[in-house]
Amino acid sequence: MKIKSVRTALLKAPLKTPFVTSLRRVDRLEDLVVIIECDDGSVGYGEGAPTPVITGETIGSMVAAIELITPFLLGREIDDFDALIHHVHGHIIKNTTAKSALEIALYDLKAQSSSLPLYRMLGGSKNTFETDITISMGETERMIGDALKAVALGYTALKIKIGDDPKKDVKRILAIHSALDKNITLRLDANQGWTAGQSVALLEAIEKQGVMAQFIEQPVAADDIEGLKYIKERVQTPLLADESVFSLKDARRLLEMEAIDYVNIKLAKTGGISQALALADLSKEYGVKCMIGCMLEGPISVTAGVHVASAKADIITMLDLDAVSLLASHPVETSVIYDEGRIVLSDDAGLGILGIKALSPL
Ligand SMILES: [Mg+2]
Repeated sequence: MKIKSVRTALLKAPLKTPFVTSLRRVDRLEDLVVIIECDDGSVGYGEGAPTPVITGETIGSMVAAIELITPFLLGREIDDFDALIHHVHGHIIKNTTAKSALEIALYDLKAQSSSLPLYRMLGGSKNTFETDITISMGETERMIGDALKAVALGYTALKIKIGDDPKKDVKRILAIHSALDKNITLRLDANQGWTAGQSVALLEAIEKQGVMAQFIEQPVAADDIEGLKYIKERVQTPLLADESVFSLKDARRLLEMEAIDYVNIKLAKTGGISQALALADLSKEYGVKCMIGCMLEGPISVTAGVHVASAKADIITMLDLDAVSLLASHPVETSVIYDEGRIVLSDDAGLGILGIKALSPL
């Protein structure tokens, strides 16, 4: 199987409701899809969502990075896999979402050439997963309404977006908590919205009311490593790092400092599957469990994340892969089942992507 072409196109899809965090508001999905074709007719799909406020990438920068890497992939055998992955990472630094989109398509092809679903090729066996769902930030009453709706749909874990206003955040969390059944798991994500001092005060206030979230995600700025350590030493609520961890180097520093309880692995931050697997292994060395998350992205890259979750099921114990259920319509044909919070991987070789219904040219 020799790589014949690498193409890019846009995947657009409307959202059910706007996605709002302390960093941004998104009204519809617009992802870059990578399609790699081989000389035997096999097709591998990859995808990435440009998230300028987190990875610094745009559709334009992703296309440029992929065009720069493509000449090193053309004409090469898929079985020469390690060299392919080396080329994806070797010719440009950063640009992690672009690299992830390329890697996902290459892993799709490698698994197809092995006649195995990707998760089995990676050593996984678990095929059924449960994800949380994001409750976008907004007025408390609306957030409570969204939370109750999600629970009615069967979700048992909710990821509550907060962080725009420390004064409001405690009230919001307490109000949402008191409106829900006590067996619902609350995950809090402040998306860098607080200072370390505020984080301690707010979390202490919440804990004093008997509310224990499963974790607080990225309360402080991505580069405020000392802040994370300061918070971890002072509050009960476990601390999960998201924007602070892109690379293995980032993670190793935090793990060495014992500054966090969990790592949020996202393919768009690690540069794809190979480094996501390595990040899970590194976390395991330190006895730290992981969540696998996603940007606001489409079914191809989210599915790749589910395969990674299966491959490292002993370390990746939480899924935040709700992006597909936030879409108003599904632009991708897949044999993977997305039934609200329940995700079931198929036994088709590769990722399980059968085709894309509608792509837009760049
Ligand atoms: Mg996050």
